[in-house]
Amino acid sequence: MQWIKNVFQLFYPNLCYGCDAPLLKQENVLCEDCLFALNFIPKPIGNDTEMKRRFYGKLLTEYCLATFYYSENEIVQKLLHNLKYKKQKSISEFIGVLTLQSLQHHDLFNWANCIVPIPLHSSKERKRGYNQLDGFAKYLSKELNIPYYKDFLIKKKKTSTQTHKNIIDRAYKEQNFHINPKYKDINTTNILLIDDVMTTGSTLEMAGNCILKNSPHKISILTMAYTC
Ligand SMILES: [Zn+2]
Repeated sequence: MQWIKNVFQLFYPNLCYGCDAPLLKQENVLCEDCLFALNFIPKPIGNDTEMKRRFYGKLLTEYCLATFYYSENEIVQKLLHNLKYKKQKSISEFIGVLTLQSLQHHDLFNWANCIVPIPLHSSKERKRGYNQLDGFAKYLSKELNIPYYKDFLIKKKKTSTQTHKNIIDRAYKEQNFHINPKYKDINTTNILLIDDVMTTGSTLEMAGNCILKNSPHKISILTMAYTC
């Protein structure tokens, strides 16, 4: 069945994204050594996480979880770099699979009723060709059987969160996002807000506060990686 192999290799190139070693037939995205070397965040019990505490006083959340610790020059950084800048969008779903495996049966997944991504500005998404959260979100949506509202939040203009991190005027920050009017009438729901990496948390804070201020929904946060 050579054609199956060909189709498979369209989605999964045959070099490891962590170490560039050739992948064995049964390996995807990462070789076994890199897979075992991934820096998973241990599955927390309940909702009191270090990540949640980072939002205290800034954003009201239910659960805040991430799959990996993020640091420079590690496999997770290489994975995310390939996903975001090298057009390797299959990595997104791969991280979705690892996320559900590592956080299996966490209460968050019973709590969430829908998935909402941090949006890219439309011109940035056009340039990249995809939102790096798509594969991740679609996989979670399918496995958890909850909808993925890709266009729930709209990013208004191009800004760099980092350049504005010292601006504490929350009203100003919230202006970066708005809720798509087509969702204004959905019933009160539990939104799982997702992003790739949480560093300062300011983008999530902005997006989360935009939701809480303009709707009756509750939010939790799930990111692929988290910087301590
Ligand atoms: Zn490797």
